[in-house]
Amino acid sequence: MRRTAVKLSDGRELIYFDEEGAARRSAHDRRGLAPGETRQGTMRHDPLTNQWVTVAGHRQSRIHLPVAALCPLCPSSEEHLSEIPESEYQVAVFENRFPSFLVAEAGADLVGEPHWNAEVPAHGRCEVVAYTADHDGSVASLDPGRMRLVMSAWIDRVRELSTLPGIRYVFVFENRGAEVGVTLHHPHGQIYAYPFVPDAVVENLRTAKSYRARSGGSLLDAVVDRECEDGRRVIVVNEYWVAFVPFAARWPYEVQIHPIAHRISLDELTDSEQASFAELFPRLVRALDSLFDSPFPYMAGWTQAPTQGSTEELADSRLFLRLISNRRAADKLKYLASSESLMGAYVNDISPETAAEQIRRAWGETT
Ligand SMILES: [Zn+2]
Repeated sequence: MRRTAVKLSDGRELIYFDEEGAARRSAHDRRGLAPGETRQGTMRHDPLTNQWVTVAGHRQSRIHLPVAALCPLCPSSEEHLSEIPESEYQVAVFENRFPSFLVAEAGADLVGEPHWNAEVPAHGRCEVVAYTADHDGSVASLDPGRMRLVMSAWIDRVRELSTLPGIRYVFVFENRGAEVGVTLHHPHGQIYAYPFVPDAVVENLRTAKSYRARSGGSLLDAVVDRECEDGRRVIVVNEYWVAFVPFAARWPYEVQIHPIAHRISLDELTDSEQASFAELFPRLVRALDSLFDSPFPYMAGWTQAPTQGSTEELADSRLFLRLISNRRAADKLKYLASSESLMGAYVNDISPETAAEQIRRAWGETT
C-alpha cells in the first residue's frame, strides 16, 4: 500500500491510498479555495440527558445529490474540478469541507460537570473516505483488493486521529442511500473524531461494567459466544468473523459483524482478519441488495474502544460492525416515530429470526 498526503487549496488535507504500482499522485487543486473557509460549529450540553448536541448551521449549504458531472468525489477533469485533484484514484480520504467537528485552537474543555447553557467549539475532525473513483459503484462492487485498501485507510486514520489532543472516540461509518439521508451518491464512508465518548458507547460500557461485576466476564464476548451457539440468527461464520442478526434487533434488518478473536479496535486486526472481512463485507452487501432487488439502504459503523480509554473501558470494549436498515419491504421504510424517537422504545416489524433466514438464503445465493 502506498500513502500520499497532499494539501487542497484551502489547506485541508487529502490522502491517497494506492496499491503498489499505481501512478504517482502530484496533481494540484486548481480551484483556488480561500484558506480557512471551513467553519467551526459548536456543541451545547443538554442538561436533561447529559449529552452534547452539535450545532453546525454551515452544513445547510452543502451540495445535495449532485449528478456525476458535478460530483465532488469524482476525479477532477478539465470540465469539472472536484475535491480530488487527480484524474483517477483508488481510495482517497480528505477533510470534510462542511464538517460537524473541526480542530479548535482551544480544544474542547469537557472535564467536570457542565454548567447551564454550556456551549463550546465543536472540536474534532470529520473526514470523507472515497472508496473508488467509480461514481456508480458501491461496497457491493468493490473487489477484495479494493475493500482491503479501504480498510488500510480506516486503520491509518484511526491510528492518527486517536493521537489528536482532546479526541475521545473515532467513529468509522457509512450511510448508503437517499433513504437514510445521504447527500452524495458517490460510494464513500466517513470518519468522525469526537471530543467525547458517544452516548451509545457510554451506555454499552456501563452495561458491560455491570455484567463484569456480576459474572467476571466480558459482555460482548458472551454475546458473540451465545449467538454462535444458538445459531438461529447467524448469517455466516468463518475462521475469523461471524455475522448475525442480534437477538433483540431494533431495525427490520440489522446485522452485527464481529471478529471471532477478541479485538478492541480496527488497528488490531491481523492481515488474515482484514483479508477475510474484505471478502465477506462486499458479498454481504450484494446479498442485502438481492433481498429487494435494489440497492439496500443502510447505516453501518464500527464500535471500538474509546481513545485514551481507562483500563476498565478497554477491558469492556470489543470491536464490531453494526449495520442497520430502515427498509422493511420493497416499497416501505421504517421511520423512527414517537415511541422510538421520544422514548427510545423500539418496535420492530420483522422478527430477527425471519430477517436472519432471509439474509442467510440471500447470502447462499450470492457470490
Ligand atoms: Zn462521483
